[in-house]
Amino acid sequence: MSDQVLLTTTVGSFGKPDYLQKARNANARGKLGEAELTELERRATEEWVRRQERLDLDILVDGEMYRGDMVAYFAERLEGFRIGGLVRSYGNRYYHKPIIAAPVRRPKPMTVEWFRFTQSLTDRPVKGMLTGPYTLLDWSYNEAYRTRRDAALALAEVVRQEAEDLQAAGARYIQIDEPAIHARPEEIEIAIEAMGVVTQNLTAKTISHICYGDFAAIYPKVLELPVDQLDLAMANYGYRWLELFDRDRFTKELAIGIVDVHSHETESVATAAEGIRRGLRYVSKERLLPHPDCGLKTRTVEESEEKCRVVVEATKVVRRELARQATPA
Ligand SMILES: [Zn+2]
Repeated sequence: MSDQVLLTTTVGSFGKPDYLQKARNANARGKLGEAELTELERRATEEWVRRQERLDLDILVDGEMYRGDMVAYFAERLEGFRIGGLVRSYGNRYYHKPIIAAPVRRPKPMTVEWFRFTQSLTDRPVKGMLTGPYTLLDWSYNEAYRTRRDAALALAEVVRQEAEDLQAAGARYIQIDEPAIHARPEEIEIAIEAMGVVTQNLTAKTISHICYGDFAAIYPKVLELPVDQLDLAMANYGYRWLELFDRDRFTKELAIGIVDVHSHETESVATAAEGIRRGLRYVSKERLLPHPDCGLKTRTVEESEEKCRVVVEATKVVRRELARQATPA
């Protein structure tokens, strides 16, 4: 794999199989125990590892079968958080917005067991998957810290501990998602400072996923985020963020979203391949990673799989073109 170009990957979550969705609902109603639920989560994780291998993705994820919400999952495992009342997020989705009620502390690792389990199932690299400190802050209420910066830095400390434990467990890629980073562009310095705490001791490849919102409002400042790779939604925006790179050169590795995750329809392989070619105008083939725009948790298993299939096939089309160009006629 080392000489492969255009490594393919995904953002992190996949659709959950029906049996797991039913089990999660039963567990929430007190009708199914934790041990039984965990067993089904492991089964679904293993199924997703096999699917990713069959699809021939290069860098795998655990699929987040054990997670509901990307902030609540961590808030439920960190000391200092309380789970608050229901608030409306996007569309008609409601969630319990966590409250930072006391100083935050990590009593024990939160994702390391899932990483170990998933990596044990495959020879391909599996990404460690975390929510970044700024997003943990922005999607919670802060009642414990004097300023938002203080809260972000305290959250960064617990995310740093988790990231370092993932690295010690063998993670070669650690993704620290910051989808809220453009929520308040005037606070981007805080997000950058907090990420610096998280990644300061890491030698693993570091990645941050940023999706829906006004990316133009934080570009080029976001290039100061101390990670190796930015993982961006592009297909849903008609690739218009790439035009920003004409003005200010993009300086990191780019994981480029080439299929929209919000539609049931999947782009054709030809359309997705065109997205990769657009990305290659700005980022070299060694530093460009095709993937879907965002996590696939709102899609079914079959839809998730289909979107990944298009990503991989489109990548193979473009790899063949690059190989032909490299071979003298
Ligand atoms: Zn996303």
